[in-house]
Amino acid sequence: MRLVPSKTPWLFKKLFPNYVWEFSSDINSDKVLYLTFDDGPTPKITPWTLDVLKQYNAKATFFCIGENVKKHPEIFNTILAQGHSIGNHTNTHVEGWHTKTKAYLEDFRKAEEIITTTIESSNLQDSQIVNQKSLIVNLFRPPFGQLKTSQGKALRRLGYKIIMWSVVTFDWEEYITPEKCLNSVLKNATSGSIIVFHDSIKASRNMRYALPKVLDYYSKKGFRFEAITSANFNS
Ligand SMILES: [Zn+2]
Repeated sequence: MRLVPSKTPWLFKKLFPNYVWEFSSDINSDKVLYLTFDDGPTPKITPWTLDVLKQYNAKATFFCIGENVKKHPEIFNTILAQGHSIGNHTNTHVEGWHTKTKAYLEDFRKAEEIITTTIESSNLQDSQIVNQKSLIVNLFRPPFGQLKTSQGKALRRLGYKIIMWSVVTFDWEEYITPEKCLNSVLKNATSGSIIVFHDSIKASRNMRYALPKVLDYYSKKGFRFEAITSANFNS
């Protein structure tokens, strides 16, 4: 049974004003959507996702699990090399509400270290794309959307932006059909929306169906798909 609505209720946003739920559409005077992909990099799924995004000249943000970055550094580097931005999604996909803040932050730091080392050992640092677009901005998304106040505070003190979402596709849920997954976006996305997909095996059936259709539908309506970069926080 679905327990959470696809569109984030205004009350959540009001209760947690320090987290980023969406970008206001007047900052982006035109039509912009922010696609985000959690839980990768995953062989087969992430490269497929990158190919589809490329077909629509779409940029997105990938919230990576540290352990997966360690296993697949080449896929991680390709994400950045293709002009997408990346964020920290902890090292082992920990549940914030059931984890002590100290342990949570240690797990976060491990992921940060792996991400930093992977970037440093690649030739991406010199890449014009990465530097110009400031893709390496400190973004964090809590697994399961779970974050204790103390964890959120500590991460923000470390200079991280906590990126939540305004539209969730439930692509990982077995009871959600591919059509329902697609409709959760079509019914709810508006300019400035942050949309959650997963580049994981679990979500692949629904995501592979919905993503190309979302890109097609909104491209035809004149929308652009952008990565979350430091430019989103400059105003
Ligand atoms: Zn996740």
